[in-house]
Formats: sequence, C-alpha cells, structure tokens
Amino acid sequence: MTAAPSAVESTQTGVAGLDDLAGLVADGDVLVLSGAGLSTDSGIPDYRGATGSLRRHTPMTWQTFRRDPRGRHRYWARSYVGWPQIAAARPNAGHSAVARLQRAGLLGGVITQNVDGLHQAAGARDVVELHGGLDRTVCLACGDVAGRAPLHRRLRAANPGFGPHADEVNPDGDAELPDDVLDGFVMVDCTACGAGPLKPDVVFFGETVPRDRVDTCFGMLEDAGSLLVLGSSLTVMSGYRFVLRAAELGIPVALVNLGPTRGDAKADVRVDAPLGAVLPELARRCGA
Ligand SMILES: [Zn+2]
Repeated sequence: MTAAPSAVESTQTGVAGLDDLAGLVADGDVLVLSGAGLSTDSGIPDYRGATGSLRRHTPMTWQTFRRDPRGRHRYWARSYVGWPQIAAARPNAGHSAVARLQRAGLLGGVITQNVDGLHQAAGARDVVELHGGLDRTVCLACGDVAGRAPLHRRLRAANPGFGPHADEVNPDGDAELPDDVLDGFVMVDCTACGAGPLKPDVVFFGETVPRDRVDTCFGMLEDAGSLLVLGSSLTVMSGYRFVLRAAELGIPVALVNLGPTRGDAKADVRVDAPLGAVLPELARRCGA
C-alpha cells in the first residue's frame, strides 16, 4: 500500500498546497484579488457561495435600479435596514494577515471585489475597490459623491421606527423585508442638487466596471510577480478576467478558496481550505 502523493503532502503540511503557496508569496510582488469569501468571517454572507440558495430574492440589477423607481425605493429600504450590520463589520484574521504580508513588503496592491471596506480597515494600502464601496453614494443626476454615514442619519430621522430588523444581510447591503413594509419607507434626496436619485457607489449586477478602474488593475497585474486570489469562486468575469490575463502573461496564479473555483484549471497553486485558518498561517510562514 502506497499513499497517494497528495495525501502525503497533506499530512506533512496540514493543508494541501500551503507549502507551495508560502513559497510563491515569499518571492514577493504578489497582487491580491479578493472576493466575498474573505469577508464571511466578518459576518457578511457570501451570497454566491454555498449559502447562496438561502437567499429569498435576487440581487438588485443596474437595469432595475435605473429604470424602476419602485425597485430602487425598495432597494434603499432594504439597504437602510442592512447598513448598521455592514457598518459594524470588523476585519477578520484573513484581512489582518493580508495587511501584515503587505507591511512585510511581500504584497503590492490589493484588488477587491468586496464593497465592505474591510481591507482598508485592517490597514491595507493601495486597495482598488473593483465593484466600488458601500460607504459612499453617488447622485445619478449631478454626480455628487457623499458619505453613507450622514445619509443614514438623515434616513433615520425620516424613518422613525422603520423595521423590522433583518435577520440576513447580503454583501451589497440589502436586507429581507416584505414589499408592503418596504413601500412605507421614506427616501431622501441628494443634498447637492436637491434631486437625485442616489445610488450606492457600487457596481450592480448588469453594470460595467468603469474602464479606467479596470485599466488600473491590469497595470497592477502586469507589474506583479504573481496573482493571489482569496475567497472568490471567480463566477463573475469582472474578477475572472485577471486570472485569464495572468495566465496569458505567464504570471503564476494561486487560489485560496473553500470549494472549487472557475479558475482552478488556470491555477499554479490551489488551496481548498477556510481563509481564516490559511492566511494567518501563510503570514506566519512568510515572517509577516
Ligand atoms: Zn445630486
């Protein structure tokens, strides 16, 4: 009886692929691409992952938000209820490990598909928010960009006692409430132009990531020694294209995710394990 090589490796390292991952990251010039799986330990559910089928409604699309005033109104009502949970979320051990690896000089920039600001809260620098951030709004009429916190204070004043509280909040900040409750919500206008409508400064499903932002990310990738994907199943092309480009350029790709990803066939290193366990151990091995 002879153990399969993968079983031997797994026994020696604890987690299959971790030795190869540590070797790649120790070479430096790593570009991180992170997804929802990195934030699940912070209490922000991964709605594309294993629990995605528990969702009771589909995510807001750009087409609905733009064209359907009632759909937009309901989005803001759900988002109002869900915002305190998003605002209260704190970085987890995975975010902290990424920030430590960066301080140790091993990581260049971070591209994140997450809209929760938790990389920055953990101390990471040079973070490109590929899909924007929930901590600010943009006015679709005048283009004014404003903070989400003051908007929440205005909404709270306009909606005393609005509820009930949600038991589930999605990464785009919306929460579950019946339509008749949502329709009773009072939305406020843009403070800059008095009109609006306001949109969270995030890229909705069906919306295109701004071209200059994509170009910035491709530039970061071209300067990188390797691409490290953390907590993304790479379902969406907006993230997957960086894996495809890395493969074209001959830049090694490492994937850390719980479960399979669309990029598995393109990966040089693959670690299938919880990020909250892998990333602190990775940082430790790299002396970060
Ligand atoms: Zn405005």
